[in-house]
Amino acid sequence: MENEFDERLLSARTLHDDDNEFSLRPKNFDGYIGQEKVKENLKIYIEAAKRRGESLDHVLLYGPPGLGKTTLANIIATEMGVSIRITSGPALEKTGDLVALLTNLQDGDILFIDEIHRLSRTVEEVLYPAMEDYEFDIILGKGPSARSIRFNLPRFTLIGATTRSGQLASPFRDRFGVLFRLELYSAEDLAVIVTNSAKILNIDITPEGAYEIASRSRGTPRIANRLLRRIRDFAQILGDGVINKDLAKTALDRMEIDALGLDSADRRLLSAIIKSFNGGPVGLETLAALVGEESVTIEDVYEPFLLQLGFINRTPRGRCVTPAAYSHLGLTPPQNCDCQPETTLF
Ligand code: ADP
Repeated sequence: MENEFDERLLSARTLHDDDNEFSLRPKNFDGYIGQEKVKENLKIYIEAAKRRGESLDHVLLYGPPGLGKTTLANIIATEMGVSIRITSGPALEKTGDLVALLTNLQDGDILFIDEIHRLSRTVEEVLYPAMEDYEFDIILGKGPSARSIRFNLPRFTLIGATTRSGQLASPFRDRFGVLFRLELYSAEDLAVIVTNSAKILNIDITPEGAYEIASRSRGTPRIANRLLRRIRDFAQILGDGVINKDLAKTALDRMEIDALGLDSADRRLLSAIIKSFNGGPVGLETLAALVGEESVTIEDVYEPFLLQLGFINRTPRGRCVTPAAYSHLGLTPPQNCDCQPETTLF
């Protein structure tokens, strides 16, 4: 469901004006910046599968939206030299939808299912034997006369993408031979992505301008590319068309994106916990109601970055705001504030 937050400039989800995202998508590992560990291991698995003449093992990619899961799935297909079919958990409503896709694949082909945690249980159960033994059963008839017919499938590779691996049933997760968690990107890596995208879009940008955008993009390539396109407008109207550091700063300030990449929605969330709950802890559902967002949006979109910054912490009793966040907002933390940053992300 789209809501106001999902349409905000810093949303990591795809927005309507991300149409030319396709042209910015790197086509091979060389263009895919960062995520070095994931890339190195994937290259080995791909090379090994190719040498054995086998299909690649099923792969599960997880991490917040906009970090390059779909891009990586496409690159894997290119590197393996196979076709890829792309769908998503919510789009596969009936088992028939899945069976139609599976039976149309060739040996080695890739089926990419985005938001795989949103597959219905019944569709998921068809996937189990399909993933493990490349077959599925169809039950014909009802009651005592019902009988099941077994069909063989091509030896396909399933690539699943999810923002939350914890929501997959463990028997499902266990059927993936390869699991990768994508990390938020460093500003340095994002600056390279912004520079490469500027080249493709014919935008004049200085290295300092690219770094300024990168450092305010919440560690997310999709956001970095989106900001680049918006700031190009400012450069055209307010400047001489070149994005330098000053121009980038002015534009980002006008868009109310602060030096760390927080926007008004982040600040509203932090202020809400501070004002209404004296810094927390506050339960996720209560917090969602307080700021008028869905709890999944808070978990998938707000939290990864706020956790990474060490601005909030998830305790067993709920979310709390750390002293660092108080300082960033220009506030003094309460004397008894015992909320400390979390060390792990997910
Ligand atoms: P996800 O599937 O995780 O939501 P996408 O794969 O759709 O994310 O990535 C969003 C956009 O960000 C892509 O179109 C691409 O332009 C850019 N992008 C993502 N990861 C990278 C990367 N590692 N290097 C360069 N560009 C990237």
